[in-house]
Amino acid sequence: MSVVPVFLYHTVSDDSPPWLAQFTVSPGTFVEHLDMIADSGLRVIPLRRLVAALLGGPSVPARSAVLTFDDGYADFASTVAPLLAARGLPSTLYVTTGALRPSDTTPFPSAATLTWAQVRELDTAGVEIGGHTETHPQLDTLPRTWVRDEVAGCKRRIEDELGHPVGSFAYPHGYSSRTVRALVREAGWTSAAAIRAASAFSSERDDPLRFARLMVRADTGRDRFALWTSGAGAPVAPFAEGPRTRGWRAYRRARAAVGLPYRAIPA
Ligand SMILES: [Zn+2]
Repeated sequence: MSVVPVFLYHTVSDDSPPWLAQFTVSPGTFVEHLDMIADSGLRVIPLRRLVAALLGGPSVPARSAVLTFDDGYADFASTVAPLLAARGLPSTLYVTTGALRPSDTTPFPSAATLTWAQVRELDTAGVEIGGHTETHPQLDTLPRTWVRDEVAGCKRRIEDELGHPVGSFAYPHGYSSRTVRALVREAGWTSAAAIRAASAFSSERDDPLRFARLMVRADTGRDRFALWTSGAGAPVAPFAEGPRTRGWRAYRRARAAVGLPYRAIPA
């Protein structure tokens, strides 16, 4: 099974507000990360290729990686996009529509966010623009109608601005539930990025509606990042099943393979 690191960044800056500091990496560190990715032999692929594989399409090449950025901070246009373009690297930017300027209801106080004009330019330049709700709530705590408004409203707004359909969604804080995932699918999103167990590798068996990512934070050290680029240092999704469940299935499969009956688990 191919292990796929899907890196998640928030802001790449030397100067971010205190509440955002733990989710910030400096431009110097970010360049170091891009160099480590290249030096480790990882090849950055567009998210859509991983999603195609998760939906049963062609496998992704061995040693693939994906770059994603959440929220829509201004430094994506000023700092990140030029660095990625210089290296020819694809990326996905998940924007919180209510935070993009002009806006007077931003959920990210004192943080510089992108303008819609910049988002349109990034889209034209080949950055995949995805959705991250309108107001960045914890979706799994909201009533259904509110969730529906957030996931469908954000999609409509982005499509109105860009003039074409978008399919990639990311849960704020990584939080979802069975109901939230059903509503995301119902709204027409084809994939949704989560955060599993704080940080985990995705894989070709991962769930397209909650694929795992590796969250890069201010305190993600060089050694940790190097470990991630080698395909180690974090669990691999899917891992909803415990060892007991996996063991039980292996037992049933083994018995079925040789034509022996298996005992049902007592309820
Ligand atoms: Zn976010």
